[in-house]
Amino acid sequence: MNEFDVVVVGGGIHGAGVLQAAAAAGHSALLIERRGLASGTSSRSSKLIHGGLRYLESGQFRLVRESLHERSVMLRIARELVELKPFYIPVYPHTRRRPWQLRLGLFAYALLGGFGEGTSFGSVPRSQWSTLDGLDTRELQAVIRYHDAQTDDAELTRAVVASAQSLGAELAMPASFVRAQLDEAGVLVNYEEGTSMRECRARVLVNAAGPWATHVARDIRPATPVPRVDLVQGTHIVVPVATTAGIYYVEAPTDRRAVFIMPWHGQTLIGTTETEFRGEPDQVQPLPEEEQYLLEVAGAYFPGLKTLTRADITARFAGLRVLPAGDGKAFGRSRETMLIVDRDQRPRALSIFGGKLTAWRATASQVMERIETSLPRRRNRASTGELPLRRCE
Ligand SMILES: Cc1cc2nc3c(=O)[nH]c(=O)nc-3n(C[C@H](O)[C@H](O)[C@H](O)COP(=O)(O)OP(=O)(O)OC[C@H]3O[C@@H](n4cnc5c(N)ncnc54)[C@H](O)[C@@H]3O)c2cc1C
Repeated sequence: MNEFDVVVVGGGIHGAGVLQAAAAAGHSALLIERRGLASGTSSRSSKLIHGGLRYLESGQFRLVRESLHERSVMLRIARELVELKPFYIPVYPHTRRRPWQLRLGLFAYALLGGFGEGTSFGSVPRSQWSTLDGLDTRELQAVIRYHDAQTDDAELTRAVVASAQSLGAELAMPASFVRAQLDEAGVLVNYEEGTSMRECRARVLVNAAGPWATHVARDIRPATPVPRVDLVQGTHIVVPVATTAGIYYVEAPTDRRAVFIMPWHGQTLIGTTETEFRGEPDQVQPLPEEEQYLLEVAGAYFPGLKTLTRADITARFAGLRVLPAGDGKAFGRSRETMLIVDRDQRPRALSIFGGKLTAWRATASQVMERIETSLPRRRNRASTGELPLRRCE
């Protein structure tokens, strides 16, 4: 029977990151992915590698600092995949934040980013407003510019897996995790590959199944703790109009939520929504009312987009955020990643709940720290902060 130090379930950005971190630390590692790499949430995000300016308002400073650090690492190691972009926040009499508040927030953002690359900000002079992709200038009071980064989330995930494979990690795909039995030596893992049932052993099983993590956790015996989480749907649409100047960070007129309007392969990507989700994760799909909401938000800021209807949408996708269960709006809930182990001493199973695309490398490193005592000592092969990530052919 095959034996690995680490077996990871789920080929999204978190599974990819843990696979790479395990291989870089010299461990043997296998990733089991049911469909395709990044076929879940990791191809349906807003594709931003960002500190998360809005998380300052909910006091999540540690998260913002960590994410800005990760942004700077990725701008260095993944130049082909992560690109710094100007972001624009238009201010009108009806928008919630005044220019001085935004500047204060951006100063804190720059401070948390160590005043490094991409932390400069300022106002767009009125003389340049006409270059902003047809932004409505009636009653426009100011446009604040700052920087964050954009990526292709699915390409990034594939690049991280390729990096892990170059360090000796293995991939079983398409292959579905079926069950795991914990014992004193580690864990016995059963998975289905094609029509065959397979079995392997691992010192530690890492459950990185995103919105399916609860399902995977329930198939681990003896039972491991499963936190109460809510799944919150976020939809994006693509419309056939080019946006070129940068990414617009606007406030939805009806409920004041943040919506991004951004360039995407010569067209415009608009997202996202926050819709309570109760079904099976496999069934998530954009709802007509979400698409209409996004068209209306875009039309409210760009008069040229007002005439677009749902029939004009060229692509649409919905993903699921995994957030701590709660009654409040999704926006205010913690975005911190939850790492849950079967036991504190020498864990044999660890589940990842929630998290951010941006923080994948930091999350993987926290996972490795958490399971370190269960793994044999190996010779380090590389450092994930130095390994270059390249677009796969
Ligand atoms: C709408 C939206 C927008 C977002 N925007 C951003 C953003 O701009 N920036 C940012 O930093 N973060 C963003 N996030 C968060 C980020 O996208 C997620 O945290 C991240 O993609 C989650 O990755 P994951 O690997 O945990 O899960 P997933 O990508 O969902 O991967 C889980 C994988 O597990 C596999 N799987 C499930 N069950 C099994 C099984 N039994 N056997 C084998 N494989 C299985 C699935 O096929 C899937 O590939 C956003 C999230 C959402 C929902």
